[in-house]
Amino acid sequence: MTGGCACGAVRYRLASAPFDTGWCHCRVCQRVSGAPAMAFSTVPVADFVIEQGGDTIGTVALTDFGRRTFCARCGSPLTIAVDHQPETIDFPVATLDDPDPVAPGYHIFTASRIAWFDTADDFPRHERFRPDTRGL
Ligand SMILES: [Zn+2]
Ligand SMILES: [Zn+2]
Repeated sequence: MTGGCACGAVRYRLASAPFDTGWCHCRVCQRVSGAPAMAFSTVPVADFVIEQGGDTIGTVALTDFGRRTFCARCGSPLTIAVDHQPETIDFPVATLDDPDPVAPGYHIFTASRIAWFDTADDFPRHERFRPDTRGL
């Protein structure tokens, strides 16, 4: 699967099938995306391959446990890496060229879900991290 930022400067390829796809309703995701929630999926770190625009990628730490990357030209969010799961990396599903097959299956940080936004599903909803999240 392939994907990239809105302006086309950054392009990436997934070297394996993404897993653990879910919605995040945290305030950082809301502010970074300008949207009520972000849908993320996960691959092993080495399987998120930057194919173009690596010198255009910015990095920012917005929590004490993770770092986000973004396209420094257009601002599109690209990845989240968290200290408690160092062997994997998360990416916003909507940046895939074909997001349809990568469907979410859970919600996290619903404690900060915006009141007028919800999705039509019965997936597990967690107020913060999932209970089985390692290291937290
Ligand atoms: Zn861009
Ligand atoms: Zn979030």
